[in-house]
Amino acid sequence: MLIVRDAAALAAAVSAWRDAGDRVAVVPTMGYLHEGHLALVARARELAQRVIATIFVNPTQFAPHEDLGRYPRDEAGDVAKLETAGCDLLFAPPVEVMYPPGFATRIAMGGPAEGLEGTHRPQMFAGVALVCSRIFGLTRADVAVFGEKDWQQVMVVRRVVEDLAIPVAIETVPTVRAVDGLALSSRNAYLDPEARVKAAAMYAALTQAAERLKAGATSAEACGEAEERLREAGFRQVDYVALRSAREFSELGRLDEPARVLGAAWLGQVRLIDNLPV
Ligand code: AMP
Repeated sequence: MLIVRDAAALAAAVSAWRDAGDRVAVVPTMGYLHEGHLALVARARELAQRVIATIFVNPTQFAPHEDLGRYPRDEAGDVAKLETAGCDLLFAPPVEVMYPPGFATRIAMGGPAEGLEGTHRPQMFAGVALVCSRIFGLTRADVAVFGEKDWQQVMVVRRVVEDLAIPVAIETVPTVRAVDGLALSSRNAYLDPEARVKAAAMYAALTQAAERLKAGATSAEACGEAEERLREAGFRQVDYVALRSAREFSELGRLDEPARVLGAAWLGQVRLIDNLPV
């Protein structure tokens, strides 16, 4: 696997592949890779002859009080996992390659960036839109693979790609979970053993909400019950449990079209998010 940290070396590798007629897939990540990320790489290998993974802890999507400085990192471990997964190239640039001196573009996101994560982390989707646009430009990938774990993020990325006419297809992979249902996440490393046990309640609460919705409960009823269940399980603050249309990401009062039930809540200092199809 090639390990590349600058734009020129990336462009040279991609040009050689494209000249040979190969399709290129990219898997954007922030590193500290787990089986969820590797499922994206596996999907990328099905979609293209060449697979690029990117590792970049993107400062523009973190607020000043958030965990940018302590976000978990293990590049050597990530390299070993990506090599085993059959990744062709790791692009792991320093900040000054992603945001060179003079970089001045910002993206303001409406639509699917509004509400839920957009309310609780107002800076995040502008940063995601910016970094993904730059990754798509630098890699010239034909297809980019994202996880359903971050459902609202997928909605945002699809919107940006369509609005800015970026020639990349967006593919998604279902959420990879631990045996107790907890969605794998790099941030799970922050959970102490006691919190790790309680964390499974997020999946349980969303699963129960999905069942209640299918049985005809309103969104207010099912989501309200799930919030209560999270508090009982020891979550100190529930940011939201919500039902959204899977296609438009609009709010739904009850289940009358394909939807997602989404939740975000705090276990101590650790914020967990998850969502399920319903
Ligand atoms: P991150 O490194 O957290 O920014 O995630 C990079 C990509 O991996 C995003 O597209 C995430 O949605 C995806 N991802 C993270 N966790 C999982 C998971 N448990 N299952 C599937 N995809 C995931």
